Amino acid sequence: MQGKKCPSEIPIRYIKGVGPKMAVLLEKLGIKNAFDLLVYLPRRYEDRSNIVEVKDARPGETQAIIGKVQKVGTFRARTGTRITEIVVTDGKKSRIFAVWYNQPFMGKMFSIGQTIVMYGKVEVQARLQITHPVFEIVEKDSLEGSLSIGRIVPFYSLTENVTQKYLRRVVYEALFSAQMDIEDNLPTYIRAKKKLVDFKFAVENIHFPYSMENLERAYKRLVFEEFFLLQIVMAARRGRIKNKGIKHEKHEKLAEEFKKLFEFEFTGAQKKCIAQIEEDMAQDKPMYRLLQGDVGSGKTVVAMYALLMAIKGGHQTAIMVPTEILARQHYVTISKTFMPLGFNVRLLVGGIDESSRNFIKEEISRGETDIIVGTHALIQEGIDYKKLGLVIIDEQHKFGVEQRTGLRQKGEMPDTLVMTATPIPRSLVLTVFGDMDISYMKEKPVGREPITTYWVGEEKRESVYEFVKDEIKKGHQVFMVYPRIKKTDASQLRAAEDMYEHLKADIFKGINVALIHGRMKTDEKDKIMDDFRKGRYDILVATTVIEVGVDVPNVTVMVVEHAERYGLAQLHQLRGRIGRGKFSSYCILIGEAKTDNSSERLSVMMETDDGFKISEKDLDIRGPGEFLGTRQSGLPELKFGNIVKDFSIMEEAREEAFKLINEDPRLEDPRNRNIKKLVEERFGKTLNIGDEHWIT
Ligand code: ADP
Ligand code: MG
Repeated sequence: MQGKKCPSEIPIRYIKGVGPKMAVLLEKLGIKNAFDLLVYLPRRYEDRSNIVEVKDARPGETQAIIGKVQKVGTFRARTGTRITEIVVTDGKKSRIFAVWYNQPFMGKMFSIGQTIVMYGKVEVQARLQITHPVFEIVEKDSLEGSLSIGRIVPFYSLTENVTQKYLRRVVYEALFSAQMDIEDNLPTYIRAKKKLVDFKFAVENIHFPYSMENLERAYKRLVFEEFFLLQIVMAARRGRIKNKGIKHEKHEKLAEEFKKLFEFEFTGAQKKCIAQIEEDMAQDKPMYRLLQGDVGSGKTVVAMYALLMAIKGGHQTAIMVPTEILARQHYVTISKTFMPLGFNVRLLVGGIDESSRNFIKEEISRGETDIIVGTHALIQEGIDYKKLGLVIIDEQHKFGVEQRTGLRQKGEMPDTLVMTATPIPRSLVLTVFGDMDISYMKEKPVGREPITTYWVGEEKRESVYEFVKDEIKKGHQVFMVYPRIKKTDASQLRAAEDMYEHLKADIFKGINVALIHGRMKTDEKDKIMDDFRKGRYDILVATTVIEVGVDVPNVTVMVVEHAERYGLAQLHQLRGRIGRGKFSSYCILIGEAKTDNSSERLSVMMETDDGFKISEKDLDIRGPGEFLGTRQSGLPELKFGNIVKDFSIMEEAREEAFKLINEDPRLEDPRNRNIKKLVEERFGKTLNIGDEHWIT
């Protein structure tokens, strides 16, 4: 092994055929060293392994054909096109032509008597012919060295001035002639147990597979390793969380007392989740739990139980939400419920004035506030909690990783409950929230009438307005949502302000219409929301500021204009604002399907209102990065695996990783000694593990 370097230590320009100029180009593809090259995976493959003789050429099929060049000619057609033509034979009667248009230099590529393999679709034009074939001139009748024909051929993503042929050659050089030591770092016992091929075999076969089976084995090996390392991080983080946390007392009668605060019976799902949370909080390790529930499943109640338990033990609690409107609403709900118990509840948002803010800040630092409801104002500097025992993050999708952990770090190992707005598909949960325990709420409160969803075009506008009027006559309220605040000259989009004026003056005369949007002052927004909640307005014209969390059970109609512009998650969220009371509700999506995706989204909305199904569809359509939205979402950069397509590999890898960390939490077993380094090389940047002491 002496003298051999490992691939990541060999700069790409030292690979045969690269040099300084090409190195610059390859760097554009993210290839800086030999290791990068080895793991630069083909985008697709073509099976050109089956080479046939000229007599076996089959019209209509795409084939690799071997023969001898019998004739080469370049001439001009009547139309002026320059044509290069060669005749390839098997030395007997069979012949096939290869033709190039307007590539006169091709004529110089061939000489009579050469053996050639060409690949392409066989056409019949009074003779057999392949137009612009891929070809390879075969030295001494041997196929050795041919990378583009006679095998399963890789295709890479390219950049300017880097061709497939070139890249194949360079990868081949690196794999088979460069002096390097391609080590396998995955513990042997895991490889053996999972029947995974060796790393060297895997990279060889991912580029130049001997067979489709080998390609599959190679792929599985690379993906498994990647997922395994990712899940090691998840498992280690989860293990680390076992450090001492706060043990909240379980009170026998607490649950009974809590139930009495509400008029309704809890759903089975609520009871189950409350029990899971209670169990977590009673442990002396910190709770770190994700509550997955659909819109309207009643997550707030569950959160309130956690609040109660923490406060009873003398701790402060904080609940962070993404918008001021939602903070305000939670504040109202929570103080209404808990004020009678003598708890001190405070609201902390960006919009409040300096002196109230200072007052609340001091209260918080003296430990006099029991519950602090707020936006990310809660994590700002200068907010010092005295004894923060529980942190709740609602509608987590609007926050980045740093904000989520920021709140937790305001206390000493506080219990943490993170709540989703709509369900997240399991593949993503394991990737991004893989270190958390998970509670599911798949059931909605009983007595809810279903929501009927319509997707209509512009021609139905009048009937939509009539329908809205009818619902208002019945004493119900209506949301009407627009994508923009103001109309602009450049865009045809209807906007909230303009439509508000128009609706109020022309369409809904005598009906109380209000407007709300994100650019209004906090006080103004609060007042409008309050008045709307109290029934002083019948219609609320809005932008998507009302998208998350807003809960006004008397609203039975949600009209969304330009519905084709919204993503599935957003539409589902908007629809989730209705169907919260005892009345039948209607979601009316006005939109033109401009793309296949938008029509698919709108159809899905008509088909189902099951958030778990919708989220799977949404992930399908958008892919993980878009699905999670915020850049700081915590989605690790993956080189090989596709978390959706390769989900079963993820599950296998997770099982092994968790078992390993469970048995060897500090990675001290000599068999596991490589793992820490591997993880840091692979995910050090994207998962922030460097400064988190992920293994202690
Ligand atoms: P989400 O899960 O979307 O946050 P909320 O917590 O806002 O849902 O609850 C939606 C509505 O359902 C609220 O008005 C709440 O009071 C009500 N609710 C919650 N639990 C129940 C229940 N078990 N029975 C009837 N209504 C309930
Ligand atoms: Mg909610």
